[in-house]
Amino acid sequence: MGSPESTLINDIKSELLDTTADHRKKAFGHDILVIDPKHPETSVRFNPLDDVAADIDAGNPSALSRARGIALQLAPDPTPPYPYTSFKIYTTYDALKLDDRQILDVLALARREGAMTMIHAENSDCIAWLTEQLELAGKTAPRFHADARPAIAEREATHRAISLAEIVGRRMLVVHVSGQDAISPVTLPLSISLRLA
Ligand SMILES: [Zn+2]
Repeated sequence: MGSPESTLINDIKSELLDTTADHRKKAFGHDILVIDPKHPETSVRFNPLDDVAADIDAGNPSALSRARGIALQLAPDPTPPYPYTSFKIYTTYDALKLDDRQILDVLALARREGAMTMIHAENSDCIAWLTEQLELAGKTAPRFHADARPAIAEREATHRAISLAEIVGRRMLVVHVSGQDAISPVTLPLSISLRLA
């Protein structure tokens, strides 16, 4: 109420608008602009493509890729070719993790559609079990996070993921590999044979 500067306010229930708009107009001479997606007929609006159209008229070479980006956000194209050619899957995190069968299905789909699968590979059960043991022992300081995620948990999941990819015959990108074990001599021949396949 007392601040004379321009202000951007998130006001989901319109309460602040109702109680302060008149005051700001009179006391500070402010223009009050309301963006209200629930009432587009009264909301302030703008066409995000106006800027792009101006850029096209001015011959700005980045205009087309910007137009494409905006168009994809407004109306993602559900028909092939899909705008996304890669996606990341997980072997850990309860809300995200896939089991081996599901990973095989994803890899097969990626093979069919020509997509690249990225995988975050850690053994979820090992991490959960180790975490429980550490908690029982009262070892809950941040440094024990590393003890709950030993290199072997990454090695196992990475080797398993590569084996699954080999079964499907589809290349895969193992992201943020952090342990030497994960790229051991056991893993490398598998990866190389995959690359040649
Ligand atoms: Zn990750």
